[in-house]
Amino acid sequence: SPVIVWFRDDLRLADHPALQAAVETGRPLICVYVLDDETPALHRLGAASRWWLHGALAELRKSLAQHHGALLMLHGSAETLIPALAKETGSNCVFWHHRFHAKEREQDDRIADALSKNGASVTAEWGTVLLDPERVRTKEEKFYRVFTAFWKAFQLQDVPDPVDAPSHLSFYPVESELLSDHRLDEQALLPTQPDWAAGLRSHWEPGETEGQEHLEDFLKHDCTRYGTGRDELGREGTSRLSPYLASGAVSPRQVWDAIQRKGASEEGARIFLSEIGWREFAKYTLFHQPLLPETSLNQKFSSMSWRTSQTDLEAWQQGRTGIPVVDAGMRQLWVTGWMHNRARMIVGSFLTKHLLIDWREGEAWFRDTLVDADWASNAMNWQWVAGTGIDAAPFFRIFNPTRQGVKFDPDGDYIRQWVPELKKLSGKALLEPWSAREDELRHAGVVLGKTYPRPIVELQDGRDRAMKAFRSL
Ligand code: FAD
Repeated sequence: SPVIVWFRDDLRLADHPALQAAVETGRPLICVYVLDDETPALHRLGAASRWWLHGALAELRKSLAQHHGALLMLHGSAETLIPALAKETGSNCVFWHHRFHAKEREQDDRIADALSKNGASVTAEWGTVLLDPERVRTKEEKFYRVFTAFWKAFQLQDVPDPVDAPSHLSFYPVESELLSDHRLDEQALLPTQPDWAAGLRSHWEPGETEGQEHLEDFLKHDCTRYGTGRDELGREGTSRLSPYLASGAVSPRQVWDAIQRKGASEEGARIFLSEIGWREFAKYTLFHQPLLPETSLNQKFSSMSWRTSQTDLEAWQQGRTGIPVVDAGMRQLWVTGWMHNRARMIVGSFLTKHLLIDWREGEAWFRDTLVDADWASNAMNWQWVAGTGIDAAPFFRIFNPTRQGVKFDPDGDYIRQWVPELKKLSGKALLEPWSAREDELRHAGVVLGKTYPRPIVELQDGRDRAMKAFRSL
């Protein structure tokens, strides 16, 4: 009888412990992907993630076809479809990788129960992280809440080596009426009208092959300079591996191993590994603190009086706040589905502090628009920026967008690229057009309130309002 490999956020063949374990049974495989929009407790994938998924599934199908196999792509409730697939095909073993969101874990438990009622079992592996999150514990057998201590303990552990893609796969032919009613219409993953994905298409190619190329490119060209270049907004100083890691086209163990081989003692490599560590810590935190995506972990913020302003929220989402470096970040996100990490921190601080809007609004917008949207990293970083997390920047540390611009976009390249209506301004006038001289604006063809918005909040006023709200907690 066949065994089932259920692909989820691990869309690759190499270093896929669940696939590897299934192959080792020596039985024919059924490879399946389920897009579950039906289970109410699970949130739907964001629009940018769906666009990415379309390309990632196409690539996975191609890889399986090279082994003369297919990927069964289904749309519907996984809780119905996976047990039904097992029953119809007589499979008594399903292989998958653990997920981290509480709702997904609960769903996995329900599916495992349903399978066991039919005599089938589940083998779950840790394929989307470096280590099983139960393994890294304090001396008191508790879980770490602070990154630095976590990372110190983590590095004493052995990370398993990545495994190669299986050289030979044999497949089980699936023909089932029940399943043909639930075929995933791949086109439904793409935007219809308007087609907002042109920028995504020109910036990204999803899939395992492209992901590996990104990794190799980064190791060859950028890794050494990563320590100094990673914060420069106008440069491609980072790996841009995040959407490949989020969809599982590249595994964290492959990245870990590649860096170790290159020599992790180099400054750039060491800092880069600690960023991979932040990704691991985000998953670890979500695993041990399931409320991370929903609730401010620092309980002090449960009584925070966040502002509600649809107008301000939309101005932020659309990159029309009148603060150039914030607008540059938000437009980069809208056009490319990705934003520089430094810009994510600047726009996050502006939303939660200068505008005093709840971090969950920012988290939701990012989740819908990022190609690398990930429950754990997104929520943990929003809570970090907002100061509501446990290991977070303190709330009173409010980024000044102008100073951030001076430091991380000193030539103004980033603002000019994404806010081209200001491109003839320079220096302070580019960062703060509202304080530029009349003649500077005129020469640059900028009319505030017409060609570019006036700031939706005066920076000092926004700062004072945030501090007042914080002090009243
Ligand atoms: P690199 O600098 O090349 O880093 C390599 C890898 O390390 C990244 O691909 C990523 O997997 C990991 N990494 C780096 N920084 C972080 C971090 N701070 N936290 C967790 N992992 C990190 N990252 C996501 O993958 N998904 C998200 O949904 C997400 N939301 C974010 C929201 C906010 C408000 C902020 C401030 C950050 C968020 N990040 C998120 C983290 C970070 O911005 C991105 O991982 C990074 O910008 C991706 O670009 P890169 O691959 O070039 O990163």
